[in-house]
Amino acid sequence: MSRIAYVNGRYVHHREAAVHVEDRGYQFADGVYEVCEVRDGRLVDERRHFDRLARSLSELRIRTPMSRAALGIVLRETVRRNRVRDGIVYLQVTRGAARRDHAFPPANVVPSLVITARALDVAGRESTAEQGIAVVTVPENRWPRVDIKSISLLPNVLAKEAAREAGAKEAWFVDAEGHVTEGSSTNAWIVTRDGKILTRPADHGILRGITRTVLLDVIAAQNLTLEERAFTVEEAYAAREAFVTSATQIVMPVVRIDGRPVGNGAPGLVASALRRDFHRHAELG
Ligand code: PMP
Repeated sequence: MSRIAYVNGRYVHHREAAVHVEDRGYQFADGVYEVCEVRDGRLVDERRHFDRLARSLSELRIRTPMSRAALGIVLRETVRRNRVRDGIVYLQVTRGAARRDHAFPPANVVPSLVITARALDVAGRESTAEQGIAVVTVPENRWPRVDIKSISLLPNVLAKEAAREAGAKEAWFVDAEGHVTEGSSTNAWIVTRDGKILTRPADHGILRGITRTVLLDVIAAQNLTLEERAFTVEEAYAAREAFVTSATQIVMPVVRIDGRPVGNGAPGLVASALRRDFHRHAELG
């Protein structure tokens, strides 16, 4: 079955899907995106993703490409046309195509909208979660507004590649004070020896992950103790458990950090219990 992408008002074959060479996303990474999990053919936490998209667009003063209702329809149609039951839908909005000039284009330039969907290997992800993943730490080198979900991801790309070359699945950024900020495409969490769950507050230093937000409800429902505070790499090395969260990974146990085993080197009970209960608290659209 051939894949279909939505590009500026049209559903086109994926291999022919293209934007203009002077699209500001292509020229300046002047755009934002969202990745939403698809489960049983339904969108997970659509409302929260739309809220975050609206915030990212407003922070960058990019116009909304269409109403929420219309966007919801196009997202679903893209999922349907690609026959995705379990996977992800990707949405990207840029400031549009215009003659190359750093400053904003004229007001009549319309934002570009691209949507793609694809299936994920759910069984593969489950077996990865049973094994846990390794992470490595890298110096934080991103701009101070990573709370905006911008498509400008070069530091994240380099960090992920560094992880891959070190035989790990994720890289954790570490700020100048030695605190972990987040992963290259995930939020970072640890469980201390005395059972406290730590994650960095969602200030401008991290992306406020939708999975992170939902997990706070799961943690409360399981009567676990949460401390939203930055933790150091040393605290992470000494932790009983560690894990990362994102729409594609859900809750993914971390079993090695910089080559050192976390806890007993196997996925922890807390991470596994949070993963198991996650979708009871997420909104299925
Ligand atoms: N941080 C970064 C840098 C990310 O790219 C992502 C995933 N897009 C996340 C955190 C997790 O966000 P979410 O739970 O909304 O997928």
